[in-house]
Amino acid sequence: MKLTIISTPIGFLGSGRGGGVELTLNSLVSGLLKQNHFINVVAPINSKLPESCSAANLFTVGGYEQSSWQHQDYFAKTDNSKGSIVNVMLEKALSLIKDCDAIINLSYDLLPISKTLEINFPILHLISMGDESFEISNIISKVYANYPYNFAFHSKAQASDYPFIKEPIILGNGFELSKYTFQEKKEGPLAWVGRVAPEKGLEDAAYVASEIGETLNVWGVIEDEDYASKISGLYPSGEICWKGFLPTNKLQEELGQCRALINTPKWNEAYGNVVVEALACGVPVVAYKRGGPGEIIQHGETGFLVKADDKESLLLYLEQIDFINRRKCRDWVENNASSNIFAKKVVSWLKRVIKEYE
Ligand code: UDP
Repeated sequence: MKLTIISTPIGFLGSGRGGGVELTLNSLVSGLLKQNHFINVVAPINSKLPESCSAANLFTVGGYEQSSWQHQDYFAKTDNSKGSIVNVMLEKALSLIKDCDAIINLSYDLLPISKTLEINFPILHLISMGDESFEISNIISKVYANYPYNFAFHSKAQASDYPFIKEPIILGNGFELSKYTFQEKKEGPLAWVGRVAPEKGLEDAAYVASEIGETLNVWGVIEDEDYASKISGLYPSGEICWKGFLPTNKLQEELGQCRALINTPKWNEAYGNVVVEALACGVPVVAYKRGGPGEIIQHGETGFLVKADDKESLLLYLEQIDFINRRKCRDWVENNASSNIFAKKVVSWLKRVIKEYE
């Protein structure tokens, strides 16, 4: 197939500001290339694709930046102006359709979704967030009424945020496993990975690490400086070790040396890439049973799931983490979330949708 993928308009690919969508795009593209599909990627200016995606055509475009929906008012209005980056990306993707079988949209935005109603061409939407915007939920519901197969989600929990979706297509996510090295050693430090922003709940992980008297290593983009410094101020200097945002190869190397990942989302996490990345390195995860992580972690096998926001249970289970067999963590990812498995699921989704247009 010839496919065009629209990236997130938040940040450029490689900046980290696009969160999990950046890695999703990379593994999707490399999985599809391995299956000999022809891929265009449309992304914000300065975007870069990793080596594994070098056979894809990358089109970068400029435009007005926008802020991510989770940091806007639920009832905020979309910026529909011509120059908004999502609009420019959409226009570019549409200019390529003569030579294309379908568009896969990874942006959580109104315009690409509403376009589905306006043209007789398959535009598929892999929704990357739970319900974070009234306008977007509304347009999904409107388009879904006519094109129910054009939407897919990462987890059942995420899809449940859209109650009008009756039989959601759930794709999980995929990871280029050759990039993650399994590490056997159990004695390392504690890890937390993610965008540093309130919906990620870093404060609960910091609390738990402090209670057991250990440093918490934190990797990720500091999206909200005030939030980060508020948490930092709660603990003696050094108790939180800020490691910054690292590219995947460095991140996995350092993360793989850790004893456990603590994952404490405060929102309905659509999937939770970092959970799978830790497992891929053999690092078990203790997480709140909220959103995607609740469907990824096998309680007692690859880590532990505790009631959301229950910090004391988090603490108790963290103390049991040595009972987890690190090899089983890696095995779960190989059997459920490789980029090949993900690309195969995406291809069957594409075929089903393209058939509807024939
Ligand atoms: N990440 C990274 N380097 C870092 C920390 C995080 O590349 O130092 C990436 C990580 O690989 C993951 C993303 O940031 O793909 C976070 O995605 P997740 O799905 O966990 O949450 P989101 O940001 O989408 O809400």
